[in-house]
Amino acid sequence: MKREASRELITVTKTFFPPIEEYQRQVERIWGNKWLTNRGKLLLELEALIKENLNVPYFIAMTNGTLPIQIALKSFGKQGEIITTPFSYVATTSSIVWENCSPVFVDIEPNFLTIDETKIEAAITNKTTAILATHVYGNPCNVEYIEKIAKKHHLKVIYDAAHCFGVKYKGKSIFNYGDISTCSFHATKLFHTGEGGGIFCSDKKLYKKLFRFHNFGHKGHTDFYGLGINAKMSELQAAMGLAVFPYINYIISERKKIANYYEKCLNFLAIKSLNIRESTEWNYSYYPIIFESEAKLIEAEKKLNQHHIVPRRYFYPSLNKLPYVIPSSLPIAESISKRVLCLPLYVGLEQSQLEKVTIIINKLLN
Ligand SMILES: *Cc1c(COP(=O)(O)O)cnc(C)c1O
Repeated sequence: MKREASRELITVTKTFFPPIEEYQRQVERIWGNKWLTNRGKLLLELEALIKENLNVPYFIAMTNGTLPIQIALKSFGKQGEIITTPFSYVATTSSIVWENCSPVFVDIEPNFLTIDETKIEAAITNKTTAILATHVYGNPCNVEYIEKIAKKHHLKVIYDAAHCFGVKYKGKSIFNYGDISTCSFHATKLFHTGEGGGIFCSDKKLYKKLFRFHNFGHKGHTDFYGLGINAKMSELQAAMGLAVFPYINYIISERKKIANYYEKCLNFLAIKSLNIRESTEWNYSYYPIIFESEAKLIEAEKKLNQHHIVPRRYFYPSLNKLPYVIPSSLPIAESISKRVLCLPLYVGLEQSQLEKVTIIINKLLN
């Protein structure tokens, strides 16, 4: 057992586990209520807590962070072309294809790694219906610019804000921007419910539509508004959410310390870190570094692996290279995705481990 502990892997992230008694207390409430799903008491409490704390008007908790993207696309009722980013997790693109829409990729901005807003207009055709962009690593897109383009061309804006719990832009939760924002509460994300996610919007009519969609289209017990799917979050998921939620500020501040250490101690002559957009209160959800070449990245990854350190290539490949999309060329996204590596960043990463990661990388770059 001792040997196991000393060889414990330093992974890119580790799930935050609240004290088990606090989770048990929530689970006991479920037993008391004898109610496991279909929008139970714990789920309603979690939704209220999130709305109040983030100051967002409408929010629906869902069973993961992918269904909200699909539901968002479905809610606009049109197929057509969706302008999107190639630099994100696969769920951003797969949701578009799953909904029988066509992804049209626009390259990314090399400093912020979000969609290059200045290249969006050139990609708009008469088939374009929406823009689906990712606030990648919790770094906001240029939301003002995107809103202007969307208004001018009558397009909807969906943000995949899976990485954004706790992020504020210009003093407001980032979930307040765009027609719809989606989030993931997966175990690897900053705030989590094991599996889970949710959808945010500011329009009451749209909220009602999204709500029906996430519950089979039900209108009472025997009638239906229309088509729907099941994206409901269960009470067991909500219990984890209620146990994790009180720790959110602690989680963010612990991660900030680690990110600050990397920022201070890594040798940035041969690597680059992420630029965070101005007026952003960031959540330190990832710590990506960009190498000068893929060869250097692979060398670093190998070396780290030898020391039981497992960073991850978030996000590789560039999504325009997926086997189910029409091939296109996006030089910046393709180049960055080959050279970006996310370093270990999680509550409980010890100082000695952090030093080890930093020393190995610096040595390699010298
Ligand atoms: C995690 C993630 C998702 C999917 O969320 P799940 O909860 O795993 O379904 C979608 N988009 C991005 C950018 C993600 O990182």
